[in-house]
Amino acid sequence: MAKITLKNIRHSYLPNPQSEDDYALKEVDLSWDDGGAYALLGPSGCGKTTLLNIISGLLIPSEGELLFDDRNVTRMEPDERNIAQVFQFPVVYDTMSVEDNLAFPLRNRGVSESVVKQRVSEIAAMLELDDVMQQKAAGLSPDNKQKISLGRGLVRDDVNVVMFDEPLTVIDPHLKWKLRSKLKELHQKVQRTMIYVTHDQTEALTFADRVVVMQFGQILQVGTPQELFECPAHTFVGHFIGSPGMNIVPCRVQGGEVLLDGFKVAVANSPKAATSSNTEIGVRPEFVRLADQGLQVDVVNVMDIGRNKVVETRLGQHKISVLVPEGKAVPQGTVYLEFDSDNTRLYDNGWLVE
Ligand code: ADP
Ligand code: MG
Repeated sequence: MAKITLKNIRHSYLPNPQSEDDYALKEVDLSWDDGGAYALLGPSGCGKTTLLNIISGLLIPSEGELLFDDRNVTRMEPDERNIAQVFQFPVVYDTMSVEDNLAFPLRNRGVSESVVKQRVSEIAAMLELDDVMQQKAAGLSPDNKQKISLGRGLVRDDVNVVMFDEPLTVIDPHLKWKLRSKLKELHQKVQRTMIYVTHDQTEALTFADRVVVMQFGQILQVGTPQELFECPAHTFVGHFIGSPGMNIVPCRVQGGEVLLDGFKVAVANSPKAATSSNTEIGVRPEFVRLADQGLQVDVVNVMDIGRNKVVETRLGQHKISVLVPEGKAVPQGTVYLEFDSDNTRLYDNGWLVE
């Protein structure tokens, strides 16, 4: 097991990349501590699979280095890296029994039959595959086939890292929830580095201790679920995480003050450091209140989401959502908003002003 470090990794699928847009990964500097539970979160096409394939060795990056502890493994073959990778769609040997499928990664490395038996039965029990162990994989449902893939990824205890690439895509919704908590439980048990790739914030936030958020081939923020919620480093992180996501409203910075439609808003960071004309305020619906005075907006919609209501308001063409406790009356028409200044921040060209 090892610490995994990506140093100035860039990757283009084109033979002669010309501009930044030609890179699927723009510039990735990142380290994964030994034993951590990580999620790699971002929308489809942002480069998650590219990054995983560079770690596993299916891809050699155009530029940069990959280290396992201090060893440079950038150009090493996949099977020299001691990595388990679970893909989006099941990879199983159809003609083998479930048991033999699970045993394969171990037998392949000459593990003794007694250890194979023990590991395979542990993993099968955990994934609830006990009942189908002697069946051929071919006849199984996609759910069960993917459980075999997960099992094959988890059965070895000598790997540097187990990587899951959107592994629950083909799994039934009710089973998804169960498998997700199983993976979390398993991580706590084995304490091996795991990287869980997903575009689903719920999956990422429930599985991981640290989440890496990506967009357009770039890492925007690495943090605990709480850090991503409380202090998004980029408006995309604020918007992508949370439901509803953070409100992001264009604003003007003038003489060290932040103005929203002429209304002065106090922010937690320093407006003086903003340099572009593309400035925005970010504040989560949790930190906006309906008040007797403040920023004047219009209520356009009220959604009941259980213990709270989401009140959607409009300021000109911009939407600002407010979280209101169930039971509190919501006036119609014109209302006033107050922002919690400790949780209201200024962003400059998308990035948090520091
Ligand atoms: P994700 O896993 O986050 O959905 P990918 O890493 O698969 O993203 O893709 C990142 C970008 O690289 C996308 O623009 C995608 O179209 C492109 N891409 C991925 N694989 C290839 C490939 N084999 N050849 C060319 N372009 C690719
Ligand atoms: Mg992918």
